[in-house]
Amino acid sequence: MSTCVQETREQCLRRLAHQADADLASASAQDILRWAADTFGDRFLITSSMGDSVLAHLASSVVPGVQVAFLDTGYHFPQTLQTRDRVFDELPVRGITVHPELTVLEQNEAFGARLYERDPDQCCEMRKVKPLNRVLTGYDAWGSGVRRDEAASRANTPVVAYNERRGIVKISPLATWTDDDVQAYAEANDVIVNPLVDAGFASIGCAPCTQRVQPGGDARSGRWAGSEKTECGLHL
Ligand code: SF4
Repeated sequence: MSTCVQETREQCLRRLAHQADADLASASAQDILRWAADTFGDRFLITSSMGDSVLAHLASSVVPGVQVAFLDTGYHFPQTLQTRDRVFDELPVRGITVHPELTVLEQNEAFGARLYERDPDQCCEMRKVKPLNRVLTGYDAWGSGVRRDEAASRANTPVVAYNERRGIVKISPLATWTDDDVQAYAEANDVIVNPLVDAGFASIGCAPCTQRVQPGGDARSGRWAGSEKTECGLHL
């Protein structure tokens, strides 16, 4: 971040995020990713839940060698892990698999089996949020595939923002993309897609907390179905 002069890191990141959100509001995903790479270099990474590899494909085409982190909660579908393996092997990315502090067995011993049924917020906090926070301490900017049309809770997603909770710049290059945009890009670029998508899983998370989307439901309605929980906490 050679653009920071006589500022604290926080002041600098806030200023960069504020300016970029105004400048890049209508920019292409490629231009947003290029700005991120030019501005933050190796202090920038993206995350992928491996539902599809659209963001990883885009980012690696703009920034070959881009760092891609995957949160391995220990509860993923085998198809998701296979998708992760293909993305890390076949795309020009530096793959990073992030593990929680406790294995599933250790968590079961400490908190009881199937914590996801009794306290999914605590489960997500231990298996997703804390591991991500730990990784992000080594970076200044984080790109994710969050889109505004995925759910009402994501409708106001900014393209670039200062993430108060983590003290880092959060970048959403696909914020303005629709389902059709994602599908068109995936088809045009032969993007690696989790096989579960074709089986009706529009948004894919941990196996115990993910169902097929019912007709007419939004993409994330299959996550924690039957409960009021809609987000794992990563994007709050
Ligand atoms: Fe646990 Fe379910 Fe959250 Fe995965 S999505 S971390 S299984 S509560």
